[in-house]
Amino acid sequence: MFNKILIANRGEIALRVLRACKELGIKTVAVHSTADADAMHVRLADESVCIGPPPARDSYLNIPQLVAACEITGAEAVHPGYGFLSENARFAEILEAHGVTFIGPSSEHIHIMGDKIEAKRTAARLGIPVVPGSEGGVANEHEALRIAKDIGFPVLIKAAAGGGGRGMKVARSEADLAEAFATARAEARAAFGDDSVYIEKYLGRPRHIEVQVMGDGKGKAIHLGERDCSLQRRHQKVWEEANSPALNAAEREKIGGIVARACANLGYAGAGTVEFLYEDGEFYFIEMNTRLQVEHPVTEAITGIDLVNEQIRVASGAGLSVEQDDIEFNGHAIECRINAENPATFAPSPGRITYFHPPGGLGVRVDSGVYQGYSIPPYYDSLIGKLIVHGRNRVECMMRLRRCLDEFVVDGIQTTIPLFRRLIDNQDIANGQYDIHWLERFLAENP
Ligand code: ADP
Repeated sequence: MFNKILIANRGEIALRVLRACKELGIKTVAVHSTADADAMHVRLADESVCIGPPPARDSYLNIPQLVAACEITGAEAVHPGYGFLSENARFAEILEAHGVTFIGPSSEHIHIMGDKIEAKRTAARLGIPVVPGSEGGVANEHEALRIAKDIGFPVLIKAAAGGGGRGMKVARSEADLAEAFATARAEARAAFGDDSVYIEKYLGRPRHIEVQVMGDGKGKAIHLGERDCSLQRRHQKVWEEANSPALNAAEREKIGGIVARACANLGYAGAGTVEFLYEDGEFYFIEMNTRLQVEHPVTEAITGIDLVNEQIRVASGAGLSVEQDDIEFNGHAIECRINAENPATFAPSPGRITYFHPPGGLGVRVDSGVYQGYSIPPYYDSLIGKLIVHGRNRVECMMRLRRCLDEFVVDGIQTTIPLFRRLIDNQDIANGQYDIHWLERFLAENP
């Protein structure tokens, strides 16, 4: 096992990783920008290193500074968290070249899954169901039309280098196609410097369902069930749950088995998430994230497995602590992402937290790096914490969540807690009946 791990992140996830290290008896190194000198993960770490000024490109994305921090402190491994350098294949390679272990999959797997065309091709080859569409990139409008007619309208033109929903255009009919194709290419060129695009069948009212996997990197992989992350605003997840209200145990076993076998065959190491759109009982692969996800705690809540602990074990060569047959899904869990934002306009609301009282009690987990008196800096994303609630079933989980939302007090800034108080009283949410467009529709109709 490692003696010392450097945590290349900030906020709640830096604290999350630090907790797993402490429980394993591993020393921790926090890194921080000058804006984060007062952060909780910096206070709780055994050592800390300031790696630069507030802009992320000068600090949390600054590879030479991070490598230097490893050398100064003698850290043997780096946990990248999510975001920042967590899916940067070059970072993983550079660390390995310096004799430091990257806690994550191989740089090759990061690289494959970072290119959407290559990822889709690999998924299909491994037996994962994909959205019908072009085989690889589409060179011109003429070819686009032929493929679109073949799969049937509406179709979606997507950027190979896409991310955050950019470079995507829907063509409803033949008349829309030329413009959608040209716009998607132009957007992709502007946003990513790469105008390769591909075409997929456009699904009208899917759910977002993702499968959590863990591979040991030696040909063994297990799945830990799914998460339903259909409640999104601008492609950002807002509320996540496990299990999905839309799946039964047989469907879970089936898709979980497909994903686990695929990752085993790939020789995948560590935590990964295979994301699907789900419509009319069918799964369609959209992408694989080769890192820990924000919403991983709902999976931990229903399985009792510490995913960060497993990531560290795999990276150290100790292997997974569990087999597929050890995994049981108990009860139901929901996560609400609490952002420092106006709950109606979603405008960022940085500033000083004058009073902070998180909820507690049975089945309640709050993952947050903030505290009373803490000032949220304006430089980073607005996630200030996650409320994760577990119950023996979905009804109990929802009742507990309502109680927790009433109890949660954050003064001095605005947060999205009031939005969740509205959602918990909604009938569709109570019934678990929502697709990926539900939340935006709700917000438009109930400003
Ligand atoms: P990105 O990397 O930009 O997030 P994704 O491939 O994950 O790109 O797609 C982002 C979102 O776009 C999905 O979460 C879904 O809402 C929508 N989407 C992607 N592909 C399709 C499709 N074939 N049909 C309908 N919606 C889609």
